[in-house]
Amino acid sequence: MILLDGKKLRDLTMDQLKSEVSDSLAGSAAPKPQLAIIQVGDLSESNSYISQKKLFAEKIGAIVLHKKFEAKVSEADLIQEINRLNLDNNIHGIIVQLPIPEGLSKHKIIDTIEPIKDVDGLTAINLKKLSANHASMILPATVLGVLSILKHYEIQIDGKKAVIVGRSMLVGKPLALALLNENATVTVCHRHTKNLKEETKLADILIVAAGSAHLITKDYVRKGQVVVDVGINFGQKTETDAKKTATIYKPENEITKKKMVGDVDFEAVKDIVSAISPVPGGIGPMTVASLFQNLVRVWKTQSEA
Ligand code: ADP
Repeated sequence: MILLDGKKLRDLTMDQLKSEVSDSLAGSAAPKPQLAIIQVGDLSESNSYISQKKLFAEKIGAIVLHKKFEAKVSEADLIQEINRLNLDNNIHGIIVQLPIPEGLSKHKIIDTIEPIKDVDGLTAINLKKLSANHASMILPATVLGVLSILKHYEIQIDGKKAVIVGRSMLVGKPLALALLNENATVTVCHRHTKNLKEETKLADILIVAAGSAHLITKDYVRKGQVVVDVGINFGQKTETDAKKTATIYKPENEITKKKMVGDVDFEAVKDIVSAISPVPGGIGPMTVASLFQNLVRVWKTQSEA
């Protein structure tokens, strides 16, 4: 079994981006790449993801501008802030940390982002470019993370049967389009799929993004498959888990009080399939790296303009 090691590839990507940024800045007066993160409310999971992004930015010589709003902020205020950031030449990428409170129109807010600064690739224009396979598209970070890890481990996509479990706007749907663009034959499964097990077993590449802890057990896979687990689910940590990780994680990091598990029961399927990405340490770290790949790319385009 090949372990699709997202941490290792994240670190490799980090080194590459760091050199790319310093090479581009050498002898130039151009500003450093800067990402604006808009957060609404104070979800501990969002706080943790944002710290990971800040840490990655620091490592590659980029800047993060963290704009945190109270949960009761108005849609008009958020839109005004995004419009301001759109016009700021020192801001190259803008993301809205999801989820945002229910009362706000996610689509309206995200679509305010200038497509060239949409480093999460979630605006309507970017999604249309993705469906048209247009070269200027920006892939959503998770989707780019999945494609990058498959490519890094030289897993062929062209002509293969890819089965995706989950049809969210954030992962399942854009991933289906991206894999179609890579010439895979794509099946998308969801809550209404009959006989999920039969569908998943047909896959050469099985990608799971259902947000359901250990949904995929040994009965859902077969020999020779490549399995990519996009799920991030949190349950309470057992005491032993807490002891094991106490020295690794910072105590202020809320997420660490809970155990993170994927949508795939890793232990149950790892000896059956030919390659698998773990949780944690798989697509999660890759998503952060991919976001900054997008940032550096649009920073270069905007610096040339
Ligand atoms: P994410 O943010 O991980 O993409 P969402 O909660 O937005 O997750 O979407 C979950 C997706 O997973 C939905 O498309 C849903 O149909 C699918 N899903 C959830 N549970 C199951 C299940 N037991 N079987 C098949 N599909 C599922």
